[in-house]
Amino acid sequence: MPVPGRGDSNPYAIWVAEVMLQQTQVTTVWPYYKQWMLDYPTISQLAAAKQDQVLKSWEGLGYYSRARNLHRGAKFVMSTYAGSLPVSVSRLLKIPGIGPYTAAAIASIAFAEVVPLMDGNVLRVFTRLTRLKSNISLSKTRRDISAELTRLIPTNHPAAFNQGFMDLGRVICTPRNPGCGQCPLSLICLARQTGDMEDYPVKPRRKNIPHYNIVVGLIRRGEKILIQRRPENGLLGGLWEFPGGKIEEGESGDNALLREIKEETGLDVSLDQEIGTIQHAYTHFKITLSAWFCDWIEGEAQTHAASENRWVLMNELKDFAFPRANLKILELLSQ
Ligand code: SF4
Repeated sequence: MPVPGRGDSNPYAIWVAEVMLQQTQVTTVWPYYKQWMLDYPTISQLAAAKQDQVLKSWEGLGYYSRARNLHRGAKFVMSTYAGSLPVSVSRLLKIPGIGPYTAAAIASIAFAEVVPLMDGNVLRVFTRLTRLKSNISLSKTRRDISAELTRLIPTNHPAAFNQGFMDLGRVICTPRNPGCGQCPLSLICLARQTGDMEDYPVKPRRKNIPHYNIVVGLIRRGEKILIQRRPENGLLGGLWEFPGGKIEEGESGDNALLREIKEETGLDVSLDQEIGTIQHAYTHFKITLSAWFCDWIEGEAQTHAASENRWVLMNELKDFAFPRANLKILELLSQ
């Protein structure tokens, strides 16, 4: 499958595609990318959009700070660079949310700057070609690889070199069972000669991913349900969710929910029926999330842990951007 933004010389399209592709599979990104380019075909249209609308467009893609940063970056480009992305890495890096990788992608692919693009695919190919035993999570290792790649990039074709290297890693030099028989670099590949391809790249051991039990409440007051907006800075910032939180050790789910709702909203509620339980994995932890219908008893909703509260009708929930785990709860409800 082709990769969004590849073969495109529109720097804005490359920017959007590269941000969406961070930590996300190509197949997941495609429908979002296509719709995004229809909804916000230019930087000025993205800059003019409301943040709620932008987050709604991103809903389900995860890592929502990427959407907020793209939006902020578009506004910055309008105010600082008159709506056009600058052509060099150094100036691209001044844009909020554009880091070294995205800056290098835009500068090398759209503007032919001689700068290497180092994603996981490139690191895998490079460390196998050279049998590099250094830990690739260390910045010194990455600096050394970057210097070596910069030396290798043909000055007249940086985009083709970078994209070729990435595609080789994505399609042929895969993490398991690399297709060395079809690889154009097999004759110069040191790992292929010794047969230890899968020992590279060298990475630190993964730590065990923690798991949390979470409980949330859909609090009903008349026809309406309470939703809360997460603070702008932090995990899932700016998204809406149902109040709740972690079940502490030795605590029952019901007690945890009543406690969390009181702490987060100040409301007294009673538990009604359980809606269901879903599993969800984030990068650094996993959760088991249970949801209950609750009924409001008394109190006015406070914003202790949230930036905003809203009471909304069930059929209005679709107009708000929720994290994937909350969407799974809404899917249970619709079944
Ligand atoms: S020969 Fe095999 S291990 Fe070496 S770069 Fe090609 S696919 Fe990767």
